[in-house]
Amino acid sequence: MKISALGSYKKIRNQSVSSKIVDSCLLCENEKIIASHTIPQFVLKCISNHAYKSSYQFELSGFEPNYINIDKAGVFYMLCKECDNKAFETYENPKNYSNPTNLNQILKEIAFKNALKKQYDIWVALNMLSEFDKSQSSIRDAIEHYTALFYANADEIQSIYDMLEDDEKNFHLIYRKKLDYTTPIAAQGEFPYKYNKDSGLKVSQNKISWINIAILPFEKQTEIFMFTNDVSLSKEKKAYFSTLTDTEKLKQINEMVFYELDDYFFDANYNKANLPQIHHPQNPTLKSLLCKTRIDVPNYLSEEYKSL
Ligand SMILES: [Zn+2]
Repeated sequence: MKISALGSYKKIRNQSVSSKIVDSCLLCENEKIIASHTIPQFVLKCISNHAYKSSYQFELSGFEPNYINIDKAGVFYMLCKECDNKAFETYENPKNYSNPTNLNQILKEIAFKNALKKQYDIWVALNMLSEFDKSQSSIRDAIEHYTALFYANADEIQSIYDMLEDDEKNFHLIYRKKLDYTTPIAAQGEFPYKYNKDSGLKVSQNKISWINIAILPFEKQTEIFMFTNDVSLSKEKKAYFSTLTDTEKLKQINEMVFYELDDYFFDANYNKANLPQIHHPQNPTLKSLLCKTRIDVPNYLSEEYKSL
């Protein structure tokens, strides 16, 4: 007999996902909004051609379905079809990566999508939390955390949009690597870096620095980027990275992917190792409220784990 202890999780999640964050396309006001994907589908197809596990399947395995199909992988609803096609056209074409003159545009497009997806995810999380028992301080802390992030990230979206309009303004690259193998994991996202994690993020503290990461496995190679719009943070991180070996750099990025990003994907049948359940104990997030386990993550970016 199969029993389910999911309670009302599924209902709350479905309600939250279907509530609209915008009534029309953020860029052109067309009312027909489509499902945009964070990781481009041609990238996802390089790690699997059928089904995926995302961060939610790993970290909330007791709540979420076992896998998701490509049409549901990393979706957000904020743009119309035309804008979705146009806004990310440089980075969604693998031919553009070999030409260094495209780099600034590639980083802006990745960051713009990361920030839109983050805003959508925060919206869904706040909707879900509004159904939880607010007499618990952990729930109130999570609501305050997400509300602060929501405002800070709205500023970030505006700032990236301004950068897209201005060729003089660019992101600062901390690390870029082209691996000559395909990693089993695809990921992209942004996370807030400079704030006091002990006292949490406050609504008044809108100016925070963000780090963007992208792990984009193509056929037979993988593009990795880490970058920020904060020049002093980029100098600090670059100096630190220069002291690390290549393997240590990949290990650091791998840990950031698992502990900080929502959008990472594996093939649903990936069985190279027992895939982990993790959570970041310092962040008062929805996932950490629901899942208390923490274990170390293998370095899936190392050649040892490459896709065959
Ligand atoms: Zn539009």
